[in-house]
Amino acid sequence: YLMDLEGFVSLCKRRGFVFPSGEIYGGYSGFFDYGPLGAELKNNLKKMWWRRMVHGRDDVIGLDSAIVTTPSVHQASGHVDNFSDPMVDCKESKQRFRADQLMWAKVELEDEGDVGYVSMVEDGNVEAALNKAAKKLAEGKKMKPLIIKDMTEASEEEVALIPSPATKKPGSLTGARAFNLMFETTVGPYSDAGSKSYLRPETAQGIFVNYKQVSYVMRQKVPFGIAQIGKAFRNEITPRQFLFRSREFEQMEIEYFIDPDADFRAVQEEWIEEMWNFLKAVGLKECLMDREVHEGDKLAHYARACTDIIFRYPFGTQELLGVAARGEYDLQQHAQASGQSMEYQVPGQKRKFVPHVIEPSLGIDRLFLALLCSAYDEDVVGDEKRSLLRFHPCVAPITCAVFPLMKKPPALVEKAQALAKQLRQRGWNVLYDQAGTIGKRYRRMDEVGTPFCCTVDFDTLEDDTVTVRRRDDPLEVSRMPIDAVARFLDDECQL
Ligand code: ATP
Repeated sequence: YLMDLEGFVSLCKRRGFVFPSGEIYGGYSGFFDYGPLGAELKNNLKKMWWRRMVHGRDDVIGLDSAIVTTPSVHQASGHVDNFSDPMVDCKESKQRFRADQLMWAKVELEDEGDVGYVSMVEDGNVEAALNKAAKKLAEGKKMKPLIIKDMTEASEEEVALIPSPATKKPGSLTGARAFNLMFETTVGPYSDAGSKSYLRPETAQGIFVNYKQVSYVMRQKVPFGIAQIGKAFRNEITPRQFLFRSREFEQMEIEYFIDPDADFRAVQEEWIEEMWNFLKAVGLKECLMDREVHEGDKLAHYARACTDIIFRYPFGTQELLGVAARGEYDLQQHAQASGQSMEYQVPGQKRKFVPHVIEPSLGIDRLFLALLCSAYDEDVVGDEKRSLLRFHPCVAPITCAVFPLMKKPPALVEKAQALAKQLRQRGWNVLYDQAGTIGKRYRRMDEVGTPFCCTVDFDTLEDDTVTVRRRDDPLEVSRMPIDAVARFLDDECQL
């Protein structure tokens, strides 16, 4: 990577992509505001996903369900009882940690036989935990690792010996306990047990509870999918790594309903490929992507299989999206709790069944960050280092900039403004700029990832042609009739 995470955080702020939420009050951990360019980029990602997954297929339809719904939904889905992360408290500092990311090592010094414990937050990174233990305890001496585990796997005696990462003192940690990640809220004018509800922790449940209705109204035949884009909320114990783990985020999810007799692994594979191709098409670097299959106790309570697409972020390789096989779990839970049948009647047959579900679930904020990481580039002109964002034209916040070569004569300005207006009317996000030298204006656009710049010059006044400069091929400036620019953008912005 040309830059670490701090670099991306500061670039996002400087260029108007992402601000810490409520920054004038010092920010608010786990919440972010998308600035003007960030909002454009994020909207484009959503548009492209919807276009491809919903409009581009005849077996997927869209939905937009409520963020707050009856708590019965999240009771039935198991979220009220099970949607938790293990948490450890530091009794002295009052800090809290995710127990499964708090690694500890029991090590023995080879020559002296001394045994020591070290704990630290390293996002579950075993190797890092060991290296740190080696450095701290042994100070260069030879050391034998006896145990390396996370805090969910520590006995009471061990907990008492492991030093807290906050105070560095043994004896200040508690054992791990479950912490429910759902945000609670109250609905209506009274605040009592009966008014309690939740902000949804995933968009999926809104799809499950509407599945029957949607399949009737839209006359869908299994297999079919329902797609939804929307906010989700999780009271993460330790929000960190910028947009990667926040407390308010957005998901793009599909619940794809299949015949229980179908080969669910084959359908899951198709969706993994569909998602992989989408990520590639919007501009993620394939060399930074990989797959990870979840097994055993890494599977969520509802899943029978799950494969993640993981991405190499500047802070390590982590989950970008998951494609889970949820079986009939959710629909059966809602059938039991509501008393309503969730069976699908096969048209023209006696056969009925509760469909099984394959769920591709993608977090937009994690995609946004992965896209920035993929697009960031630097070049050196003279002895000056400059940065660029090489966004694909279909997601770039500004698709095209329009410049008059100079501020005078007025005819140049008028022509350029008319072109900008014409392109805006065609639906493009266009930036008009007449300030500074043309070189500086190009540079400003490279920095925010604008793929095309059109310049109106003196020849334009003669023959109605303009120059089009490509960010990724700045020396190949082409000339085209003013009226051809919109078509050119149409062609270039195909996904
Ligand atoms: P993790 O293990 O990283 O906490 P998860 O497995 O709990 O993630 P899922 O429940 O599978 O995540 O959620 C589906 C998708 O939603 C994830 O792949 C991710 O893109 C996104 N997502 C989940 N939690 C967050 C979060 N706190 N901030 C941003 N995006 C998130």
